[in-house]
Amino acid sequence: ATQRFARLKEMGALTNQDIDFLTSGGIDNLNLGEKLIENVIGYFQLPLGVAAYFHIDNKDYAIPMAVEETSIIAALSKTAKWIKSHGEISTHIEGNTCIGQLQIHNPNDISRLEILLKQHKQYLIDQCNQEVTNGLCQRGGGLKDIQLRKVHDMAVIHIYVDCVDAMGANIINQALEFLKDPIERLCLESIDICILSNLNDSKVTVANIVIQLDDDELGQRIEKASRFAELDPYRAATHNKGVMNGIDPILIATGNDWRAVEAGVHAYACRNGHYSSITTWRYCDRKLTGQFKAPITVGTVGGVTRLHPTAKLCLNMLGVKHANELARVIAAVGLV
Ligand code: NAD
Repeated sequence: ATQRFARLKEMGALTNQDIDFLTSGGIDNLNLGEKLIENVIGYFQLPLGVAAYFHIDNKDYAIPMAVEETSIIAALSKTAKWIKSHGEISTHIEGNTCIGQLQIHNPNDISRLEILLKQHKQYLIDQCNQEVTNGLCQRGGGLKDIQLRKVHDMAVIHIYVDCVDAMGANIINQALEFLKDPIERLCLESIDICILSNLNDSKVTVANIVIQLDDDELGQRIEKASRFAELDPYRAATHNKGVMNGIDPILIATGNDWRAVEAGVHAYACRNGHYSSITTWRYCDRKLTGQFKAPITVGTVGGVTRLHPTAKLCLNMLGVKHANELARVIAAVGLV
């Protein structure tokens, strides 16, 4: 570990204070746990490791990973090194809002609801942005849109919130609770459930890898394995477990809600009506190309990201400035 610490310090990923904190065993009292959960009796410690050689969108990253499973970090570092010398990883994000839902189980008049919501949409958005989501607005985000969906005989109102650097679950739930009353009064309907959706298909993170490969057999075998996972849900589940091997350890290390991301990724993997793989690989003309595309709803503020000292240390080690950059790195590691 001494050599690893020296290398990470040289890279500017860790400070002397970070190294002291890690070598002394991390959190040494129950105060933080008492603030976070109920009936706390201790901490469950996972090993924290670093995946090396990641070069994403022309930037080097030391990837912190909290995980108990052997070989994940070795396989990632080895593959990242290969990609660094034979290819490249690029990422982007499509869309910028997260979804909250207001459910009307038995709408009185869904056509009238649609008309009234359209008429009052801007008023509702302005009120919410003044009263609840003003902190997000000041940072360029906030409530952006309200849309009506019909689900069988129910009406479901979706709100679309740009949560900037927060994961947004609490803020969205607050916005929904705030909107319930004015929507009920304006539309003469009764709202049942107000809750965010973890199927955030209005903000999906995409990672692409292109590798120059002069081994036709290897390229074709990877494509065949991908097609198997795309078509067969039994294979897709295990394929996606492998992808989440790269994703969950970063979510845990950075204090993000891994259950939320897991739920979103698997729901998105079913978007075409059957469970499929969340990554695809193709080989053509000595080029191996891979893609990951799914919602990675994470924060660099909020939740425990800045409260948990190890999460804070890991976010600093990654050197990510914003939630979108963290989501892009996570998607890239999942694909690798
Ligand atoms: P949060 O409640 O801590 O809110 C984030 C706060 O940070 C806001 O008040 C915001 O104004 C402020 N802020 C400061 N700088 C910001 C910036 N640059 N960008 C955006 N906001 C900034 O956190 P949250 O993200 O609303 O909620 C995340 C938590 O909610 C997680 O701990 C998660 O486990 C939990 N949760 C998840 C679910 C779910 O996924 N279904 C449901 C409920 C709660």
